[in-house]
Amino acid sequence: MSLVIETKDLWRVYSSRTNTNGIPALRGVDLNVEAGSFVALKGRSGSGKTTLLNCLAGLDKPTSGEAIVLGHDLMQMSDDELTRWRREQIGLVFQSFGLLPTLSAYENIELLLRIKGDEYEPRHQRALECLEIVGLSRWRDHRPYEMSGGQQQRVAIARALANHAQLILADEPTGELDSKTTRELLTFFRELVESQHITMLMVSHDPLVDQYVHQVLTLKDGVIENHN
Ligand code: ADP
Ligand code: MG
Repeated sequence: MSLVIETKDLWRVYSSRTNTNGIPALRGVDLNVEAGSFVALKGRSGSGKTTLLNCLAGLDKPTSGEAIVLGHDLMQMSDDELTRWRREQIGLVFQSFGLLPTLSAYENIELLLRIKGDEYEPRHQRALECLEIVGLSRWRDHRPYEMSGGQQQRVAIARALANHAQLILADEPTGELDSKTTRELLTFFRELVESQHITMLMVSHDPLVDQYVHQVLTLKDGVIENHN
């Protein structure tokens, strides 16, 4: 078994003006995610899901504990190292899609590779390839507002895949979609995990997801309840 994510006793305590001890959003998370799995992370609002995802993506710093992601010990890395690592190895997907409204589907993907520092030809090829993977080749020149919510989320997925990310972290990616589109997207995610040999950790509180993922984990008050 190879682990893509491994955390031990991970804490994230936010500082607070009213509470001198701070707000403990994560209170000792032990999490193992196997390579090639599609895992849902559930839990009520405020249970720490976004905090955990941000810590795993290197967008936020845990207060204490261990976090090994794709073989990297995040606790030992500087902010600059985390930023570079994230650009090169992690795919991020958000509820609100996070697409730039003035750019076409193709340009939204290509921009990410430009920021990463890729040369024109490889980034052009990769952007086209990713649009093909998500079935949107014909929509390459369309802007986000000309597409449905499901299509926009596919563009966001194409962008997340563009850097050849082995791990996709998605925070409520179906939160703004109706149930039919949610089902289509979840089917697509499951196929993507299997065909591209990637690992996906998806935050969701939609009961629908249980049928599509390999494993469901639940966060409660900053701790994972049902991990075995
Ligand atoms: P979820 O995504 O499950 O809704 P969050 O990770 O956003 O949960 O929040 C977990 C807890 O941490 C909540 O009590 C929230 O109010 C608190 N929290 C989140 N972000 C911050 C922050 N930047 N500063 C202080 N408290 C925060
Ligand atoms: Mg959240």
